[in-house]
Amino acid sequence: MMSANLNTNLRQLHERIVHALAKAGRPATATTLLAVSKHQAAPAVAHLASLGQSAFGESYLQEALVKIAALSNVTAAGTPLEWHFIGPLQSNKCRDIAAHFSWVESVDRLKVAERLNQLRPAHLPPLNILLQVNISKEQRKSGCTPQSLPTLAAAVAALPRLQLRGLMAIPAATDDPLKQRHAFRELAIAQQQLIDAGYPLDTLSMGMSDDLEAAIAEGSTQVRVGTALFGARD
Ligand SMILES: *Cc1c(COP(=O)(O)O)cnc(C)c1O
Repeated sequence: MMSANLNTNLRQLHERIVHALAKAGRPATATTLLAVSKHQAAPAVAHLASLGQSAFGESYLQEALVKIAALSNVTAAGTPLEWHFIGPLQSNKCRDIAAHFSWVESVDRLKVAERLNQLRPAHLPPLNILLQVNISKEQRKSGCTPQSLPTLAAAVAALPRLQLRGLMAIPAATDDPLKQRHAFRELAIAQQQLIDAGYPLDTLSMGMSDDLEAAIAEGSTQVRVGTALFGARD
């Protein structure tokens, strides 16, 4: 994707988000954009930052660390870039993730949460955490079961160097808008149950390039978009 298109793609994406919010009767700022920059080069990220985009999602740690270092002096509309780790977690990645990211959206078991808590550097604010839920019950390996959420949420919320902010899911891909909405509704209900139980959650990360309208209709507060922004990945 030529970077000249980034401007147009970002504008069109904001239009899609605002249109979906209006259709759902939600405020125009209720859903933010996480630009998924995995497999994209640092200059493309810097270009988006110059257009005001500050939040970026990465799935592959080594690649992300190189980009984060290369872009450490870049700001977006005067604020530093905000890096979200959205990929599969292993214990041996936790030290670098805890040191270089401000959000981790893919926590699905207590062991990695405890490690992130233990390794979060003392000079940084608590690490923002989303619990990844496997809502479609497919073969996908990542994500905790909806049934295990209350126990996992309670344990994560008790860790002082983590701040539990909400839930994330990647439902099975489908072209059927009703099926898309059904899956997103399940996540929204799970989030509401935790809020009702007393957790102050404010972030519901759901919706990608092909299903963000359905996610916004069901209450998404953050869509994670790669392809519709940067073009197809290599
Ligand atoms: C790659 C990825 C996305 C972006 O998907 P697109 O279809 O390219 O918009 C969103 N979330 C996660 C967790 C991803 O790994």
